[in-house]
Amino acid sequence: MIVTIDGPAASGKGTVAKGIAARLGFAYLDTGAMYRAVAFAAHRASVPCDDDVAVEHILPDIHIEMPPGRVLLNGDDVTDAIRAPHISQGASKVAAVAAVRAFLVPQQRRIGQGRDMITEGRDQGTVVFPDAPVKFFVTADARVRAERRYNELTLRGVQTTLERELAELVERDRRDSERADSPLKQPADAHVIDTSHRTVEAVLDEMEGVVRRCMTDRA
Ligand code: C5P
Repeated sequence: MIVTIDGPAASGKGTVAKGIAARLGFAYLDTGAMYRAVAFAAHRASVPCDDDVAVEHILPDIHIEMPPGRVLLNGDDVTDAIRAPHISQGASKVAAVAAVRAFLVPQQRRIGQGRDMITEGRDQGTVVFPDAPVKFFVTADARVRAERRYNELTLRGVQTTLERELAELVERDRRDSERADSPLKQPADAHVIDTSHRTVEAVLDEMEGVVRRCMTDRA
């Protein structure tokens, strides 16, 4: 059974996706990490992330593996490197390239084939798994999301400011929502969860209840 979780940057969807996967014993797929890996490969090849033709050109040389908790690009562990702020911006640029989506979406469907899996991204409920029996749309106020991102980066020793993180999130949300191919949008049949003023545990309790009810109905 596939459970999709979509939502804007730093909405908390990664945290709750991992948490709900652990509670249910489901696999977990972070599809944003796959777009980040493509952006990382583009940087490594000195290809601008918004150059559609050049990005498409390097796709045949990109091999992504997603073992639990890790991201491998052509065998190299890039799990931490793809979290750098310039890769976040690059990922949302390569994500607007139709050839990149055509390259990654079938891989995501293959990974989910026949499995119990929580999959997280921007288009999982709308495009990649439109028939998923449970869909969530996880969101939060932009300011709260910027504070979370700022705290996360500061903890990792990255020098930044709250205002800068807010501007970057707003810019990335705009690019993700306005692109022609698979823009970020709330699936019509999604459960909407606003994490702004809720604890992770409270959100997980609600989500677990929704998924378990669906599992019972399908049994
Ligand atoms: O979720 P994360 O912030 O790691 O995603 C990085 C970028 O990848 C997003 O800003 C978005 O542009 C892109 N993305 C996407 N579709 C997905 C997952 C991520 O376009 N399913």
